[in-house]
Amino acid sequence: MSKKKDFLRTVVENDLQSGKYKEIVTRFPPEPNGFPHIGHAKSISINFGIARDYHGHCNLRMDDTNPTKEDTKYVAALENAVKWLGFDWGEDLYFTSDYFSQIHAYAIKLIKMGKAYVDSLTEEQIREYRGTVTEAGKRSKYANRTVEENLDLFERMKNGEFSDGEHVLRAKIDMSAANMKMRDPLLYRIRNVNHFRAGNEWAIYPMYDFAHCLSDYIEGVSHSICTLEFENNRDIYNWVLDTLELQPPRPYQYEFARLNINYTVMSKRKLLELVEGNYVSGWDDPRLPTIAGYKRRGYTPESILTFCDQIGIAKANSMVDVAQLEFCIRDDLNKKVPRVMCVLDPLKVTIENYEGFEEIDAPYYPHDVPKDGSRKLPFSKEIFIQRDDFEENPPKGYFRLTPNQAVRLRHAYIISCKEIIKDENGKIIEIKAEYYPDSKSGSADTSGVKVKSAIQWVSATDAKEVEIRLYDRLFKNEIPEGIEDLNPDSLKIIKNALVEPAIVKEKPDERFQFERIGYFYTDPIDYSDDTPVFNQIVGLKDSWGKKTKEKKVQPKAQAKQVQIDGEVVAMSKEEEALFDKYTKELQLNSEVANTLARDKKLSDFFEEALMEYNNPVNIANIVTNEVARELKQKELTDLKFIPQQVAQLVKMIDDETISTKIAKDVFETMSKSGEEPKQIVDSRGLLQISDPDIIAPIIEDIIVKNPDNVEKFRAGNKKLLGFFVGQVLKETGGKANPKVVNELVAKKLSEK
Ligand code: ATP
Ligand code: MG
Repeated sequence: MSKKKDFLRTVVENDLQSGKYKEIVTRFPPEPNGFPHIGHAKSISINFGIARDYHGHCNLRMDDTNPTKEDTKYVAALENAVKWLGFDWGEDLYFTSDYFSQIHAYAIKLIKMGKAYVDSLTEEQIREYRGTVTEAGKRSKYANRTVEENLDLFERMKNGEFSDGEHVLRAKIDMSAANMKMRDPLLYRIRNVNHFRAGNEWAIYPMYDFAHCLSDYIEGVSHSICTLEFENNRDIYNWVLDTLELQPPRPYQYEFARLNINYTVMSKRKLLELVEGNYVSGWDDPRLPTIAGYKRRGYTPESILTFCDQIGIAKANSMVDVAQLEFCIRDDLNKKVPRVMCVLDPLKVTIENYEGFEEIDAPYYPHDVPKDGSRKLPFSKEIFIQRDDFEENPPKGYFRLTPNQAVRLRHAYIISCKEIIKDENGKIIEIKAEYYPDSKSGSADTSGVKVKSAIQWVSATDAKEVEIRLYDRLFKNEIPEGIEDLNPDSLKIIKNALVEPAIVKEKPDERFQFERIGYFYTDPIDYSDDTPVFNQIVGLKDSWGKKTKEKKVQPKAQAKQVQIDGEVVAMSKEEEALFDKYTKELQLNSEVANTLARDKKLSDFFEEALMEYNNPVNIANIVTNEVARELKQKELTDLKFIPQQVAQLVKMIDDETISTKIAKDVFETMSKSGEEPKQIVDSRGLLQISDPDIIAPIIEDIIVKNPDNVEKFRAGNKKLLGFFVGQVLKETGGKANPKVVNELVAKKLSEK
């Protein structure tokens, strides 16, 4: 089971235990009147998830009782969405329309029981007669019709003898019921229209309240799970099944809170408005919260399901921040996709002292060392870098190329700026640069040149021109009212971005991280050999949260105050925004977040490192301890290492290539020599030792040398475990994997 138990699963478990049902049957019952959205994904994940967890079954049922709005293209979209999310409804796709005859028979049964009648009031009168919350309603005079009259009229309604609205069939319940829905609810209405599946067979169609409970019953559903707005309909649900005296087991209805997300609209009706008004390119426009839109944009089904899991199942409606969904997709892709290079806004760089051509073997997964896969990266005299990776007059803390600051070209060499070429308007059109032949990435860098960061680039002669589609929130307001709140900048098309040649292929279906920019997906519809099109799935970090927070004017008194060393100093708005992001989104503890947020040098360093490897907690620890210590004595520009190297170091700890203890030594070496951590580990043989076959003999040796302590341990002094572990670590120069050592020592000491 994927998570802790929610209230629905508790109900299901109790029902299984009490023997109320032999099998759990749920259903996902959409109306095929539009494309499904992320709210439906939540319903799908709940219904299919519960069926899966309890070895039951979940039906997919098209709730097609409203023939004026429904269409087969929506049926297909719903099927596709469920499949894409990885669920299976078995052999049969169900339609409520398949039960029209059975539902009709139940209606006749109710009429014969005197529990339903044909009413001939106008729609207006029906509303008037219903009363109000504080006033009882009044029953229609037609409620006195005899069973024969009702049967006759109902038959003629069915045969199309009347026009729409002339009559309805109503349940005879209670016109003074506190629950207004129980005041003789409508069961059938006349609609003289063609049904997309049932054709012209019917001139009457059952209402939701009548059709839904009966369809559930017919299908043997045990738990009919729907959203909170149906809470008041539950009484009708029960009334219909009880009054018809249907044999148990029968279904019961349970309600959960529907999903709302900010900066978008979710109902199919509102989405249809956007589609029909051409405000978006179609139901699968990547800016829409539709499953088809997410799919086209490059979201993974896994990330959407993780999101549904995270938000949980609640009984109270709330608004979920879209940033949470974005976090899930980022987190999923971070683990999976190759890193490549793209330049969105190219600035030409001519490397004057470089002649010829070479192909650099560059790993696709530099953040995940053991994972194989690399491509050839052409390097030549003329390259393009991102325009904003060069600053003629850099602000403080600028890490990239400037007239006085060299930069590393990712996977390649360090370059420095020799000359800036401008056009007649003063716009920079080219940089003349010089490279350092000894500085090649991956080999011992003996150039002695200090850099603060590595930037992406492409070789001018080999780069491929592509179209990049950048997406922003579809609406500019958190809770949009309507079309007038559309964000005019929700789509930005960059026609001549440049990417490295390796990633442009025939008909790919691939996701990439364009380093330092974001995650991208080959557009499944518009991608062609002539114009490769990449959709931005999500940026590397949540820039939106920052943007909007900064705009908010906050009264001084509310500024967050964090106590340090007994002294309280208010944060600036920017620092506060960072602090919030670090604690809430990145889950850093408040002390670490406080240190980072208040120090621009540290937070910039931290964020650069995060782009290389996404483990905020561990990177933040090294940055606020080791890096901060270095920076007490040195300026940023005097550091020998760059953020990416720190990220690599953390990565090596995480994948257990090195122990934390050794990592400290590696950091010391790196901070003195600037060597790559991997190189330090390789050349000094610092790989962590996790192999029990190597560790066990060392332990045995120590046991033999310390008979007294062994005896004390066995006599009950368990504290001595630490002594033995410490001895082993010492013996291996700190390279032994403490976890393995702990286990083995405990085992060996308990053996006699
Ligand atoms: P819409 O207003 O978008 O048309 P709906 O509720 O009318 O939504 P249906 O097609 O009738 O959509 O719903 C199918 C199932 O999906 C229902 O059980 C419904 O409760 C559920 N559902 C719809 N929207 C959401 C949502 N935002 N969050 C969770 N479940 C939802
Ligand atoms: Mg609806």
